[in-house]
Amino acid sequence: MTILMDKLYVGGNWVQVGEQFENINPADGSTWAEIADADAEITKSAVNSAKSAFNNWSALSFNERAKFLLKIADEFERRKDDLVSAIKSEAGGTFGKAMFESSYIPGIFRSAASQNFQPIGEILPSEYGKVSMAIRKPIGVISVISPWNFPTLLSARGLAFPLAIGNCIVLKPSEETPYTGGLIFAEIFEAVGMPNGVLNVITCSKNKVDEVGAVLVENPNVKGISFTGSTPVGRMISAKAGAHLKKCCVELGGKDPLIVLEDADIVKAAQIANFGSFFHQGQICMSVEKILVHEKIYEEFVDIFVSRVSKLKMGNPLENDENVIGPVINNNQAKKIKIQLDDAISKGAKVEIGGNIQGRFIEPTVLTNISSDMLIYDEETFGPVVTVIPFRNDEEAVNLANDSQYGLSSGVITKDEQRGFKIANLLETGMCHVNCSSVNDEPHIPFGGSKSSGLGRHGGKWSAELFAETRWLTLDRGKRPFPPVF
Ligand code: NAD
Repeated sequence: MTILMDKLYVGGNWVQVGEQFENINPADGSTWAEIADADAEITKSAVNSAKSAFNNWSALSFNERAKFLLKIADEFERRKDDLVSAIKSEAGGTFGKAMFESSYIPGIFRSAASQNFQPIGEILPSEYGKVSMAIRKPIGVISVISPWNFPTLLSARGLAFPLAIGNCIVLKPSEETPYTGGLIFAEIFEAVGMPNGVLNVITCSKNKVDEVGAVLVENPNVKGISFTGSTPVGRMISAKAGAHLKKCCVELGGKDPLIVLEDADIVKAAQIANFGSFFHQGQICMSVEKILVHEKIYEEFVDIFVSRVSKLKMGNPLENDENVIGPVINNNQAKKIKIQLDDAISKGAKVEIGGNIQGRFIEPTVLTNISSDMLIYDEETFGPVVTVIPFRNDEEAVNLANDSQYGLSSGVITKDEQRGFKIANLLETGMCHVNCSSVNDEPHIPFGGSKSSGLGRHGGKWSAELFAETRWLTLDRGKRPFPPVF
């Protein structure tokens, strides 16, 4: 049965718009919901509502704002089953993925609430004995634009910290996940009695996203943009934000390497690689897409890895909780992955396992015999296909890992912690995890990438600083001399 969600959340009201678009369940192609298709006018109203709410919200005590965030965390906990079911239906999430994502959200809001109890500035020395301080203030309306792969988590991460410190939000989720990335936030904020206009949710189709997106980035009342998504769109948004001198954080794509040294526990390394490459069908910005293995253990690693991959069950997540590989999000994504696969095979790649594609279901696939002229060598795949490449020494491993336009996350597996950290320090990625997968996240850490993987950091004090303005305030106590001529 198709659910009708033909309203947007603006200024604390559910506002009907004339047009709707279809929200498709990627597992069976059915229409899960009909969603309101916003235009520029209603988006401007949402920005104005957020602006009107700003003075009162930012003037609330830090403790009062924190209390609202804690209530939101509790309400997400209470609605966990609804969210699990929606993530499966709207986004093709498996049971494990939906459980992980829904369990993670309350911690984001609790962490953001706790941020309000941290210092908001510094006392500076003053030549003339002034009281001199650097103090952080919220900036106003923040547009939060999120992707479909972890829609609730990434919308929550984008908005919770800027909100906690006193900013107001216009949230635009992906057209693929308008409910789990957007409208569920409106339901929850309304349920906890959040003041009107502090959060506004705008949903729109792919056809309207340029028009709606232009308001979200260029409207003069928007003071900051928190974007998570692909590198081409992030680059465009970042350029526009720069032209308008707006604060902006862009968290973008990746091609994350996992380096397995010759002293690694091979079984453990294969398990880490299996999870990192195939959790949520490889549709994670931090997914392991390039496994680099020391030549001494390369063959043994590939054997053990392939045997673990062969046990992953693929199927509709709504039919069986044991299906750990669901569909990819849409036909375009499936097509892009097929192009990379065909290109690699035509240039000599060996398919160790997988390679079959049935509609949006793509078998977990391991490719070897990779060369740098293949598209898959450095294009983000964002699907259940991983390459395994041998290396001879640490220097070659680091060079292969860094031979990428991207630099989001990475992992190094070794029994030698010192050697692991030495390599971690040489990798051009915003994050690196020794003895773990590149797939790692916690709400309070500085999450973000280098190179084409983005600019700025989400999480904890790093988000709070980004979506604030630091002002210099002084109080003179009569000790500053002025030239007598004046
Ligand atoms: P996308 O760039 O296509 O879309 C992201 C968001 O931008 C969506 O809400 C979309 O509607 C919106 N958008 C598209 N065009 C726009 C425009 N002209 N103006 C304003 N907004 C616009 O990305 P996607 O396909 O939703 O997500 C997958 C990508 O996101 C992958 O590249 C993945 O690596 C990346 N990602 C990065 C992180 C991270 O933290 N680094 C996390 C998750 C996903």
